[in-house]
Amino acid sequence: MIPLFHGGSQVKIPDLNIKDFDPLPKIQIDEQTLINLSLLKLGILSPIDSFQNYEEAIEISNEGRMTNGLVWSIPILLPVSDQESYNFREGEEITLNFSGRIAALMRIEEKFSLDIYEYCNKIFGTTNLDHPGVKRTIQKGNNFVSGRIKGINIYNTHFSSHQPDPNKLRELFNQRGYKTITAFQTRNPPHRGHEFLHKHSLLTTDALFINPVLGPKKSGDFSDQEIFQSYRVYLDKYLPKQRTILMPLIYSMQYAGPREAIMHMIMRKNLGCTHFVIGRDHAGVGTFYSPYAAKDYVNKFPDIGIEPVFLKEAYYCKGCTEISNDDICPHDESYKIHFSGTKIREAFMNSREPYPYEMRSEVYNKIIEIRSCQENHIEPSSKLTINSLTSVE
Ligand SMILES: [Zn+2]
Repeated sequence: MIPLFHGGSQVKIPDLNIKDFDPLPKIQIDEQTLINLSLLKLGILSPIDSFQNYEEAIEISNEGRMTNGLVWSIPILLPVSDQESYNFREGEEITLNFSGRIAALMRIEEKFSLDIYEYCNKIFGTTNLDHPGVKRTIQKGNNFVSGRIKGINIYNTHFSSHQPDPNKLRELFNQRGYKTITAFQTRNPPHRGHEFLHKHSLLTTDALFINPVLGPKKSGDFSDQEIFQSYRVYLDKYLPKQRTILMPLIYSMQYAGPREAIMHMIMRKNLGCTHFVIGRDHAGVGTFYSPYAAKDYVNKFPDIGIEPVFLKEAYYCKGCTEISNDDICPHDESYKIHFSGTKIREAFMNSREPYPYEMRSEVYNKIIEIRSCQENHIEPSSKLTINSLTSVE
């Protein structure tokens, strides 16, 4: 059955009439916080309706749970500068501004600081500045304010218009009679190894919800358009339309590996999904996490309310002559060709079309088309904005 929202009910934060609040003191927020506001607004981070306070931050860091015991692995924090921290008083109403526009109204409940290195050790398992999530966290400093958000005005930006609405999505699941839905998160165009996971999901649950994470990423990642449009052409040709839904999630990746996997699950539970595919090195970066660290961590929280799906790595097997994995393939290592994001990125860099067992030619051609249009500053022939693709019906 479609799960209840995390914690029992959906958080709804009212719309904000921006004109009323112009004279209030302001905090300048960054893109990550703006994205968090768009998630909070729609209840995708239910039951959170606030930037969290010191006590919650410590409890979550230590236990992977909030003070009420509910599973939650990464605190939703509002970092502020030294000057902002000094200027504001607890109890004061302020606005959160992005690019000169008011995004939210909040009442400051607590000002606090954290030992940011200890925090990074707990959340990311490292304080190494080569880790992009750690670097960003440390750069933002150790001052924070907490407080309930009284209204959000997420004007018509990339972040708001492309976020999935949990109510509409749940309604769609109900209309189609889905009882079990597997969410598949990705940060890459589909390769044949992903396809194996999609097929498994369609064989074991009623529907597949493909939910690529778009938004700020580290350099070298595929662009939002490349990911989304290549998924579109793949879905059109290779997956059953009545059982597959494609929508993006705008989210700022933190690359926190195991702890981020839990956050990914909570967001998909709030979107109405019953199952979630935990990938190899899920939400990881470089070699900071072992391939199955996320699996081990997620298994510590059986009460999360959405079922993790762990599948062994898919590869192309020359003995099976198809995509396979260790659960079904009897052949030894010499037969296996493993998928690797690095190998696929190299193929693109060298203008070598990936082998058919690595990637569908439609996917490759779509990405090449997008890149060549960008180089020549022209619109792709079949220009598909993310907006027009929020659902494949
Ligand atoms: Zn085999």
